[in-house]
Amino acid sequence: MDRRRVSLLGLGLVTSLLAAGCSGDDADGGGHPLVIATTGHIHDALVNLTEGLPIELRLLCGPGVDPHSYAATTGDVSDMQRARAIVYNGFHLEAQLGEILEQGPMSGRSWAMASAFPVSRVLDWVEDGEIDPGAPHDPHIWNHLAGWSESVEGLVSHMATLFPEHAEVIVDRGATYVDEIRAADAWAREALSVLPVERRVLVSGHDAFNYFAVAYDFDTHAVLGVGNDPEADIRTMQEIAQICADKKVPVIFLESITDPKVTQALEEACRGRGWTTAIADEPLYSDDLGEGAPVDTYLGAFRTNVERIVSGLGGDAR
Ligand SMILES: [Zn+2]
Repeated sequence: MDRRRVSLLGLGLVTSLLAAGCSGDDADGGGHPLVIATTGHIHDALVNLTEGLPIELRLLCGPGVDPHSYAATTGDVSDMQRARAIVYNGFHLEAQLGEILEQGPMSGRSWAMASAFPVSRVLDWVEDGEIDPGAPHDPHIWNHLAGWSESVEGLVSHMATLFPEHAEVIVDRGATYVDEIRAADAWAREALSVLPVERRVLVSGHDAFNYFAVAYDFDTHAVLGVGNDPEADIRTMQEIAQICADKKVPVIFLESITDPKVTQALEEACRGRGWTTAIADEPLYSDDLGEGAPVDTYLGAFRTNVERIVSGLGGDAR
């Protein structure tokens, strides 16, 4: 399936449902105002900003759910109709929701983290050497903590505007949360410094770690390309297997949202080139968060990723 193709069927469903229903703010009347987040990373930021305030949060893509392929359910559409705000990643991460949120009737209440991500940090979204003009930017921006902290600052401003009665609390908590993100960035830099440059090769199922690679001086390679396309390209698989063999990559990583068969096939392709690489015991969190502490928070999942990368790549050379 084309990773960037918007589901016309899904768009039609949403459009017809909207035509049939109302779209008033907080339309149920009795509850707290609702804010919807598409991904766990965004939801976690909103929890940090609003916990304890009379604001209801809802997450669309929970643990194990791939935002690249997520399509709105009728329940989602109903919630979107009554939400005060829908916060999404943007840069076409939510390929099947993007046009609904950016061009449809919901666009007036949607806000993208990408809109506050610093332009100078944005990476091209390249697949097979080409950039799709409809989706030119790599969407995995939460893996660049310095850049993401600016997205969070944008979210703080947006939420403070939407909820002026809570603005002081939101701004105060936002400053604390941004400090935590920047501290985690510094911690990661220190933790990863134990890996010599030649060990900094991150191979995973789908290409979610390009920003991570830029931030922490890694090479990164993925079998499935940026969008988690299930049809792994055989040529790409062979090229990455050769890189693993040439660079003696000791471990390749599974991801929580990627079919483990992809990584297993890569392991076999490496073996065919005379190099034995191990599959990491535990997956990396790419586009989702995990269940339970510490991986159910953005920074918990990030720190866990860093620890697993250091552990996986820091082993003895074979
Ligand atoms: Zn992804």
